[in-house]
Amino acid sequence: MDEFQLIDRFFCRPTLSDGVKVGIGDDGAVLTTRGDQDLVVVTDSLVEGVHFFSDVTPADLGHKALAVNLSDLAAMGAEPDWATLNLVLPTADSKWLEEFSIGFFSLADRCHVTLVGGDTSCGPLNLTVTAGGWVPRGQALCRTGARNGDLIYVSGTVGDAALGLQLVSGPDGLSEHGENRVVERLRRPEPRILLGQALRPLATAAIDLSDGLAADLAHVAVASGGLGGVIEEDRLPLSAEALELRTRKQLIPIALGGGDDYELCFCVPPEHRGEIDRLGNQLRLPLTMIGQMDTTPGIWLVGESGVREEYRSGGHLHHWAD
Ligand code: ADP
Ligand code: MG
Repeated sequence: MDEFQLIDRFFCRPTLSDGVKVGIGDDGAVLTTRGDQDLVVVTDSLVEGVHFFSDVTPADLGHKALAVNLSDLAAMGAEPDWATLNLVLPTADSKWLEEFSIGFFSLADRCHVTLVGGDTSCGPLNLTVTAGGWVPRGQALCRTGARNGDLIYVSGTVGDAALGLQLVSGPDGLSEHGENRVVERLRRPEPRILLGQALRPLATAAIDLSDGLAADLAHVAVASGGLGGVIEEDRLPLSAEALELRTRKQLIPIALGGGDDYELCFCVPPEHRGEIDRLGNQLRLPLTMIGQMDTTPGIWLVGESGVREEYRSGGHLHHWAD
């Protein structure tokens, strides 16, 4: 199978968007712009050995490669529209590609995303997706807008994916724990697309949780003019599945420091609290207030004792030898 047969067989699909004038097959994709909207562009790579291990299924990889990008669009308040896919593959295995494309397109179809192009080459497994989405002009949700006194919220539950990673990295691995709900959260993150769009008029700032709650909230705090964030530990939303496996006390550091949840963390002026409650009910997604923005820089934790302590462990960062 050569590169063109591979693209034809696994990646050429009918377009889902009126805006795609030329999709896969030419030197470039041609898309119409939307006059009254801003285009948000995001990109993220998954690298074997860094973001996933060789035992992950191709369908999960296809899902996740797209999901992490749609999560970035969600965090910007954007409506996803199109994506490109750069595949570096060690071998062109039909079964692998078939399953990968099922994982990719089942999420793409559900979210009305058209694959408009990409690149395919031979080399160590690496998947890069670039995605575009739209927001009404001037209304993108940025990290920079949080204000002192804003309430801090997170969607869903936090720490599940990191606990899932602990389980699958342990001696029993994926074979024993693959069906567990927390492992499912690691394998199949759900981008909070509708939430992101609904937050545009309500939130002052938003970020998706890829590196860990404390580290990601710190990005918002710094970007919003050097504010700080105070998190009340007992408000952190933990899942019932995680609480079956670990105590609340064990889960708090995982919830704060663990990455890969792909929930949204966002800041809301106190007067919008009722609207956030209604939105959570409407979306059937828990939206939990976990603390408040403050003028003291840093991320602060209020634990059982009621004393405020600075959070010092980091989230996930890529490092290179000097
Ligand atoms: P070029 O050499 O002009 O850059 P390619 O030969 O790499 O183009 O690709 C041919 C067409 O197939 C292009 O439209 C490109 O966007 C598309 N394409 C290549 N790889 C992929 C992929 N993995 N997924 C989707 N489209 C792809
Ligand atoms: Mg070309």
